Amino acid sequence: MKCTLCKHGETAPGTTTVNLNQGESTIIIKGVPAEICTNCGEYYVSEEINAQLLRLAEEAVRKGAEVEIIRFAA
Ligand SMILES: [Zn+2]
Repeated sequence: MKCTLCKHGETAPGTTTVNLNQGESTIIIKGVPAEICTNCGEYYVSEEINAQLLRLAEEAVRKGAEVEIIRFAA
C-alpha cells in the first residue's frame, strides 16, 4: 500500500520495533510484523497485531515494569 505519512513510499512486509508508553512504563516490543514504508520507515500494523501489542503493554504495566523489552510472538 502507499504510505499515508510521506505519501511517496510504498510499504513492504517486514518486522519492526514498537515503543509504547503507558503511564510510567515504557514497553519495547521487537520483531513485530508490520508493513514498513520503504521511503520514510513509518510502519503500519494490523488491528489484530495492534490489539496484541496493547495487551502486552497492559501486562507490563500491571507488573509495574518501568522498561520492558519483549520479543513479539505471533
Ligand atoms: Zn512513508
